[in-house]
Amino acid sequence: MPPEPPNQPAGRSSVVRRTPFPASVTRPLVSPIHPSAVYIARDAAEMNRVYEGAEAGFTYAREGNPNAEQLATKIARLEGAEAGLITCSGMSAVSAILLGLLKAGDTIVAGNQLYGRTLRLMSQELPRLGFATDLMDASDPAAVVAAIRPSTRMVIVEVVSNPLLRVADIDALARVSRDRAVLLAVDNTFPTPLAFRPLEHGADIVFHSVTKLLAGHSDVTLGAVCCSNELHTPIRDAIVTWGLNGSPFDCWLAERGMNTLELRVARSNANAAALADFLATQRGVRQVIYPGRADHPDHAVARRLLGNQFGNMVAFELDGGRDVVDRFMRSLTYIPFAPTLGDVSTIVSHPAVTSHRGLTPAAREQLGIREGTIRVSVGIEDAAILCDEFREAIAKSLV
Ligand SMILES: *Cc1c(COP(=O)(O)O)cnc(C)c1O
Repeated sequence: MPPEPPNQPAGRSSVVRRTPFPASVTRPLVSPIHPSAVYIARDAAEMNRVYEGAEAGFTYAREGNPNAEQLATKIARLEGAEAGLITCSGMSAVSAILLGLLKAGDTIVAGNQLYGRTLRLMSQELPRLGFATDLMDASDPAAVVAAIRPSTRMVIVEVVSNPLLRVADIDALARVSRDRAVLLAVDNTFPTPLAFRPLEHGADIVFHSVTKLLAGHSDVTLGAVCCSNELHTPIRDAIVTWGLNGSPFDCWLAERGMNTLELRVARSNANAAALADFLATQRGVRQVIYPGRADHPDHAVARRLLGNQFGNMVAFELDGGRDVVDRFMRSLTYIPFAPTLGDVSTIVSHPAVTSHRGLTPAAREQLGIREGTIRVSVGIEDAAILCDEFREAIAKSLV
């Protein structure tokens, strides 16, 4: 590192000049935040060595910064990946993968139950740019095989879909993708790498909305991509060139949040399983959707892929229409209705009004999303208190 210049002489000359960092033989326990947009080299030769990769270092924050690199390393190690990258949102993680790896003429096969914005990217943005996308049911490997054509470059799926929590058989999808020399990119946001590591099951790329469970406190918007060193280079170039990098402060918050990831995932998974079983006993609840329950259509695949960690997401259907749902939401005094998931606290959402509002009622009905369908992102509260709150709100919604 170039040495700090000494303090300015006393007087006005020190107003604009930066004050040197105090000498210290100790170093901070906690990762420092590096908001600097740019890095200083001793001379052109040193800067050149850093740009060439001959020496470790940073140049300009869009090209990489210490907080993003620390967070990327942390997530890549959890995913068992050679390399990790941070982007400014989950959506920019998908964008970086596509921008870095697609070339003119390539087509994509993608799940038809992807996260709403990802689906919009597939069905509106990519076709606008000349990339055709074939959408299919990702929980049906035969449908994926049928959709792959000679121009297919990539298959994009989520391990667990929203809000019906359909589970894609990543083992089977990895086999068919490898056979056809197609890249398999997997959104692992819902399970987190603590429950499932797609690369170990043959996927080529894993991506995350770090905004959700990884960061865990609803105070950052970030994404992550994990892959091999070979794929890392073009995806990194796309991030740097298209300007998809994450802010150092967000990265710092996410790294801090991740220190408690294991505790949060264990607690929220246990709470979700308890809440799902509880909801199934309540009058006025027509259906409960949770991959950990034997009545879920993908329970066997979920058990094989996720072990006993079926996730913190639960969906259920109230008997009735929008009026019942609205009474239920208003009766949940301490549980907010908000369009996100993975927070420390429990949050409910209404897919027909939020994530799936772009679909016609008939298209929603065909997927199994109705006016009474409510999605719950279960937090780390006391499970008994949580069940009491739901009991009370469901009872009030029925009158
Ligand atoms: C939220 C989410 C995204 C998009 O992430 P942002 O950080 O909001 O851009 C992608 N996939 C899934 C499964 C998500 O839940």
